[in-house]
Amino acid sequence: MADNNFDHTIKVRRIENKLGIKGSPTCELVFTNTPAKLVGTRRMGLIKYVMSLMNGARLGVGAQSVGVSQAAYDEAIAYARERKQFGKAIIEFPAVYEMISLMKAKLDATRALLYETTRFVDVYKAYEAIEATRKLTPEERADYKEYQKLADAFTPILKMFSSEFANQNAYDSIQVHGGSGFMKDYACERIYRDARILTIYEGTSQLQTVAAIRHVTTGNYLKQIRYYEAQPINPEFHSLRKKLITMTTLLENSTNRVTETKNPEYIDFQARRLVEMAGHIIMTYLLIIDASRDDMFRKSAEVYQRYAEVEVRKHATFIKNFDVEQVDKYKIA
Ligand SMILES: Cc1cc2nc3c(=O)[nH]c(=O)nc-3n(C[C@H](O)[C@H](O)[C@H](O)COP(=O)(O)OP(=O)(O)OC[C@H]3O[C@@H](n4cnc5c(N)ncnc54)[C@H](O)[C@@H]3O)c2cc1C
Repeated sequence: MADNNFDHTIKVRRIENKLGIKGSPTCELVFTNTPAKLVGTRRMGLIKYVMSLMNGARLGVGAQSVGVSQAAYDEAIAYARERKQFGKAIIEFPAVYEMISLMKAKLDATRALLYETTRFVDVYKAYEAIEATRKLTPEERADYKEYQKLADAFTPILKMFSSEFANQNAYDSIQVHGGSGFMKDYACERIYRDARILTIYEGTSQLQTVAAIRHVTTGNYLKQIRYYEAQPINPEFHSLRKKLITMTTLLENSTNRVTETKNPEYIDFQARRLVEMAGHIIMTYLLIIDASRDDMFRKSAEVYQRYAEVEVRKHATFIKNFDVEQVDKYKIA
């Protein structure tokens, strides 16, 4: 942590007493006149180094969230198969199997988004490594910039959706366990506590929205959605794609409605809804493309599309029925 010559200048304030992730101790470090060395180039700290660190960390929390979602799902399905009520396993009740199917769809959707985002990051990092050894050709440079932009656009929606879904899956996992889920005897209780930090550290979901909204308003997500729309898919999924095209029109109309006000506070007010609409459409496309390659994704593609359509329509209706001045009703003195 510190060179022995000056470690008396660094103090651990205290080990925090946390709700979850207790296997990973957290503390504040206090630096008092600690000798420091300049790392990197002056004036690049915030824009280049911190942003690069944050994006890497957000990708990491995205992956961590998918892992937590998986654990929540695994615990739920194992319990639902074993637990008997009214003479049958609880997984046979529609209320339970619907809950577990949606957990799986959210898990598969965010895993697909994680792999897509890491692919964008891998490609642009590869160009970065090549650039360190030789000059990139104009085509390579254009490709590099394109992947960097995609990585920039996808990282905040990955962090936001995977962490929010991990929390929802952790909540539903306890629900599937009933009263037993409230007891410390079952892992779902720990998963629920461990999930809570995911939407907070490395930038809260609200801050991911701040990072993502410009990719809605500049049309970056829309361009990528159009790219997915043009991908070859199994003809069985053409009806789902038709629905996605309608959902995309709702996203475009809602975006225009909000941005044409040219009111920054109003755009902020509606930002989460717009970002979520784009994210739902993107994840459904990724699942349909995956399902066209491998049948194991079929169920999640179908379940997620239904869920996504309802969410997109809900947000579109909210935006359509809203006037800018109604924001005042939400303000708290
Ligand atoms: C267990 C744990 C480990 C941590 N580890 C580290 C670490 O290793 N290194 C490190 O540097 N930090 C670490 N943190 C700090 C963590 O990154 C921050 O707590 C987190 O980013 C949120 O910042 P904040 O606590 O200042 O909340 P605030 O910024 O005060 O946010 C409070 C609320 O206001 C909202 N809000 C704030 N600004 C805006 C805005 N512009 N628009 C909309 N809503 C907004 C937030 O979404 C949130 O709901 C850790 C925190 C915890 C709990």
